[in-house]
Amino acid sequence: TYILGIETSCDETSAAVVEDGRKILSNIIASQADIHKRFGGVVPEVASRRHVENITLTIEEALQAAGKTFDDLAGIAVTYGPGLVGALLVGVAAAKAISFARGIPLIGVHHIAGHIYANRLVEEMEFPLVALVVSGGHTELVLMKEHGDFAILGETRDDAAGEAYDKVARALHLPYPGGPEIDRLAKEGTASVPLPRAWLEADSYDFSFSGLKSAVLNTLHNAEQKGTTINPADMAASFQDSVCEVLVEKTLRAAKQYQVRQVLLAGGVAANRELRERLVQRCQSEGIKLVIPPLSLCTDNAAMIAAAGYIGYLKEDFADLDLNGVPGLPLATSSLQ
Ligand code: ATP
Ligand code: MG
Ligand code: FE
Repeated sequence: TYILGIETSCDETSAAVVEDGRKILSNIIASQADIHKRFGGVVPEVASRRHVENITLTIEEALQAAGKTFDDLAGIAVTYGPGLVGALLVGVAAAKAISFARGIPLIGVHHIAGHIYANRLVEEMEFPLVALVVSGGHTELVLMKEHGDFAILGETRDDAAGEAYDKVARALHLPYPGGPEIDRLAKEGTASVPLPRAWLEADSYDFSFSGLKSAVLNTLHNAEQKGTTINPADMAASFQDSVCEVLVEKTLRAAKQYQVRQVLLAGGVAANRELRERLVQRCQSEGIKLVIPPLSLCTDNAAMIAAAGYIGYLKEDFADLDLNGVPGLPLATSSLQ
């Protein structure tokens, strides 16, 4: 069974063909990162326009690289939220047009469900499992008891992890996107700057990163006032130390409480080397099975959308042609509920 996946929620135009939700036949990603770099962040209007320019060719390339045609497809899975509304609409419109013209069932996919299902392209899921979702707009611990069933154990109360990485990177005068830059710089420094850890209430699985971000900014500012300097590499390492410690410890606590069979890592920040290394170590010493997607499947791509869409296909959870982009779509009420 072949599913065509389409993803345009942010600044990547992507199309992919995936077999049985597990095997990638193609995964074409047209990134706009170079364009948005100049502005220090994603410019929504520019993103939509680029999606319009790229979408048709990207879909054609995905089919061609997979050696498939529209006639081979059992379904078209498209991200319909959350994300930038103008960006989402481009993918949704393309998916609806193909669905209507070719009579292929349409499946609406929640972007975060896609990030989680990137793991199934690596290894079969075993339930119950807990997924740590860390991306540009989300930081969540998600408990799954079966396919398509997402219960949010905790989430960020302010900034997302990726957002915090990007803001701290900006304060350190690093280019956008800042996450990979901090990842690289942190390896050259030591975690010697004292920074807070946001554990919140003892039993809480929620996260908070704005206090940490402020602490970084204040420390840099105070040093500047005193005419001293802080080694940027040490600051990057210290910031990363705080973020990773909280993320890993809360994930392990949830894994034990719910006696999960797997821990999954998902989202753009899952590309972070320190986070990956620490999770590997902690899960190993606790004897918990850990799945981490390769770097190329951590950031936005359509293969993960096709993988999640396959579950919707099996459940015959099909969308009508009035499917719309929903910028604030909650995970619990997505069509993959
Ligand atoms: P969402 O998935 O929440 O809608 P998004 O799609 O914009 O948001 P992703 O593309 O999943 O987010 O991830 C992008 C984020 O990941 C950015 O904030 C980026 O800085 C961060 N990131 C990417 N690589 C790394 C890394 N190696 N270390 C830390 N952060 C990283
Ligand atoms: Mg992105
Ligand atoms: Fe994403």
